[in-house]
Amino acid sequence: MTITTIEHYIAGQRVSGESTRSQPVYNPATGTQTGEVKLATRNDVNTAVAAAKAAFPAWSNIPPIRRARLMNRFLQLVNENKEALAKAITAEHGKVFTDACGEVERGIDIIEFACGIPQLLKGDYTEQVSTGIDNWTMRQPLGVVAGITPFNFPVMVPMWMFPVAIAAGNTFVLKPSPTDPTPALMYADLMKEAGFPDGVFNVVQGDKEAVDALIEHEDVHALSFVGSTPIANYIYERGAHFGKRVQALGGAKNHMLIMPDADLDKTVDALMGAAFGSAGERCMAISVALFVGDSADAIIPKLTEKTKQLVVKNGLELDAEMGPIVTAQALERITGYIEKGVEEGADLLVDGRGYTVPGHENGYWLGGTLFDNVTPDMTIYKEEIFGPVLVCVRVNDFAEGVDLINRHEFGNGVSLFTRDGNVAREFGRLVQVGMVGVNVPIPVPMAWHGFGGWKKSLFGDMHAYGEEGVRFYTKQKSIMQRWPESIAKGAEFTMPVSK
Ligand code: NAD
Repeated sequence: MTITTIEHYIAGQRVSGESTRSQPVYNPATGTQTGEVKLATRNDVNTAVAAAKAAFPAWSNIPPIRRARLMNRFLQLVNENKEALAKAITAEHGKVFTDACGEVERGIDIIEFACGIPQLLKGDYTEQVSTGIDNWTMRQPLGVVAGITPFNFPVMVPMWMFPVAIAAGNTFVLKPSPTDPTPALMYADLMKEAGFPDGVFNVVQGDKEAVDALIEHEDVHALSFVGSTPIANYIYERGAHFGKRVQALGGAKNHMLIMPDADLDKTVDALMGAAFGSAGERCMAISVALFVGDSADAIIPKLTEKTKQLVVKNGLELDAEMGPIVTAQALERITGYIEKGVEEGADLLVDGRGYTVPGHENGYWLGGTLFDNVTPDMTIYKEEIFGPVLVCVRVNDFAEGVDLINRHEFGNGVSLFTRDGNVAREFGRLVQVGMVGVNVPIPVPMAWHGFGGWKKSLFGDMHAYGEEGVRFYTKQKSIMQRWPESIAKGAEFTMPVSK
């Protein structure tokens, strides 16, 4: 099999840069190496930032409506290339093809949102703040901004960032995950085909060296990060040190609180999809099922049966419900958590270890895994596993469930299954989590609502995309103006007040 060299994309071209370091890229379903991704040096990052900086004056000067028209063309091209992008995701990430198509769709939502940039950039205006004086505010782009993204959504998560940033008039440098770096080059090509000037969108492949170069570069004005909590925390602290605006989205441990009045079958289906979809490698995956009262005994037996029947195979096969784990290292980490759960006394109802898929003996396989009688002091409850492992915790009542959720260090997503409207209302009010679903297992907000967790799931105060995204990528300017005819005679030495 040929091994593709996966390069950077700078100033409208694929380039190797000066990097001598590189990293293999695998197909996780087969365990074979398919690519070799370049890992940028500081100089490569400098070249990309310089290209973005050079493109900024002309790009930011283009009227928003014309920027939106180019975005509209990009939207059309991404729609035309949806399947190719989804296949590229499955090839390097492993998630099933239909799920990869869904990922591209959710990226498309944000491009559609970014096409509305003229309306989103509209400022405020007050006539006559004082006699003969008007005051208005407007939002202007920051300059060069950068995105650092995780392996689990190589198309959707970068699209949370660059369409909004670029439509708002910024130029962009993306540093994708080196685990699945190919899709970024595909949409870089589509940006060029859509007519975006060279340098407006750039990709540097790389690892910590590239990230540190972006954090420290004086011409990078904002950093959007999505990934694990320790790195989010690091980017937030270091970014602030270098005077940058930072939004850093981190890890998660999402609970589903199940009330005894919930519809049993629908709850089981919701848990299956939310826990095992994308092999649990979603920041909005449900990894804790919190059963109130006797809902546990009604649901866990059905859940156990369904978990055993989960169809795990190569994501390109259309009947696959779950694909492989992303890397051999991730498989080892998740397996370690399963061992720890057993050691700490949880009941392992379904053990996914040792799973094999005929014809794919070297793939990174794990079946769906289910634990019962997990307690809040156990490692598998406290830490993010980021794999197809669902832990069941039993609580006595609603209040105990909400209290447990609120005490967890993560607060990304949460879900409640019930038929009681008042319980749902109270849940929405009381729960200390950024994104809440009521009978919705994975409440990923739509493009115009913005995405973000609370507590250790997000560092910074602006959520990704939506109007918060537009605010993040722009700064407010206030202009106060009058004309000579309305200026009163004589110097004024007191604080100006409305007259
Ligand atoms: P990761 O933190 O390992 O990597 C994320 C990015 O940071 C990558 O581009 C990586 O190259 C870079 N990076 C890794 N180590 C670094 C270091 N020491 N210094 C500087 N940069 C570094 O995350 P991952 O494994 O790619 O993704 C999974 C994680 O992302 C999970 O924790 C998941 O919950 C989280 N995630 C969160 C959200 C969210 O919206 N909150 C969304 C998707 C994924």
